Amino acid sequence: MTRIAVVGAGVAGLGTAYALREADAEVTVFERRESVGGRAATRRHDGCVYDAGANYLKDDDPRVAALVGEELADGLVDTEGPVWTFDADGEISEGKGDDARKWTYREGLATLGQRLREASGASVRTDAEVETLARESATESRDARWRVGTASDDFHADALVLTPPAPTTAYLLDGSDWDDPLCGDLVDAAASVPYRTLLSVALHYPYRADPPYYALVNADKDHDIGWVSREECKPGHVPDGESLLVVQPSPDWSRERYEEGNDEIAVAAADRAAELLDDPDRYQFDWADVIRWRDALPDAGADRETLRRGTEADLFFAGDWVVGEGRIHAALRSGLETGERVADAL
Ligand SMILES: Cc1cc2nc3c(=O)[nH]c(=O)nc-3n(C[C@H](O)[C@H](O)[C@H](O)COP(=O)(O)OP(=O)(O)OC[C@H]3O[C@@H](n4cnc5c(N)ncnc54)[C@H](O)[C@@H]3O)c2cc1C
Repeated sequence: MTRIAVVGAGVAGLGTAYALREADAEVTVFERRESVGGRAATRRHDGCVYDAGANYLKDDDPRVAALVGEELADGLVDTEGPVWTFDADGEISEGKGDDARKWTYREGLATLGQRLREASGASVRTDAEVETLARESATESRDARWRVGTASDDFHADALVLTPPAPTTAYLLDGSDWDDPLCGDLVDAAASVPYRTLLSVALHYPYRADPPYYALVNADKDHDIGWVSREECKPGHVPDGESLLVVQPSPDWSRERYEEGNDEIAVAAADRAAELLDDPDRYQFDWADVIRWRDALPDAGADRETLRRGTEADLFFAGDWVVGEGRIHAALRSGLETGERVADAL
């Protein structure tokens, strides 16, 4: 049977596997972390559930909305409350009637990865970082194939789908054992995608204030804070009477402080959040968590025509950077479409 290797169990990689669920192929997904979902990530602490990467999923893409809202809907919840804006001076304004749906799961957005994993029926190997790639030439008895190396073994596949963020994809291909000018073109295409670095800081408070919004977003992109949201607006995330802010500083602030210790980052983020919210109590959190996303969001897409040439070598790509939109729904859609292209090529 045809063997397909997918690198990365974010929503793009799992979306690829899902689209191949009825294909006459054996699909194996390799994920370097111990859990699936990628940047649709969730953490838990002290009775709280919080989305540590992406904050919510929009229903902007009808195909993804139908899949998530129907087949993957178990545990799906709507975030309550609107997103308001603020400017460089910290002036807060009511949003523009933003009542679009903001989905997460009761157990957090990482559930989306788990649901996709179950629905795909694929074999998913976690704690399995792909370290090497090689293109083996055809022999008399078989076609050319890919060798995918992890620390524990080598896996042979007839087709390969790469879904890590573009810098990692470029790095893997650049170090691959594949002697073809196309490889260099693909490395250049992936390496050209610019990324924003972001910190995500979770701050817990043992009391609750109830402002009329779920989140505040910096509209002019000129404030140290890009985003502040309240996890207690997500059903099931925060025990009654408590509050958990997720503060995402601007890309510049995040890059400057990226190497600092968690305590320093948390205090600095809490200070800026307290100022912005004009709430002196917010200087005093009782626990915090800092999540670092070096390759958080692509600011553009890779050259799609170049990536498509990978098909000549049974090589495919999926992910938010492939379509140039750092959103869960775009990444999942990219995975579904890539899976269909792989199925067509079988
Ligand atoms: C802080 C932050 C806030 C965001 N907010 C939102 C939001 O509110 N709404 C929204 O829609 N989107 C948001 N996004 C963007 C959204 O999370 C991403 O666009 C989407 O999750 C990308 O999915 P993906 O599958 O393309 O990539 P990823 O989720 O990055 O998946 C790639 C996977 O590949 C794995 N991997 C990497 N290298 C290897 C290797 N060598 N071997 C094996 N596995 C490997 C990674 O561990 C990862 O699991 C946010 C992102 C961040 C970081």
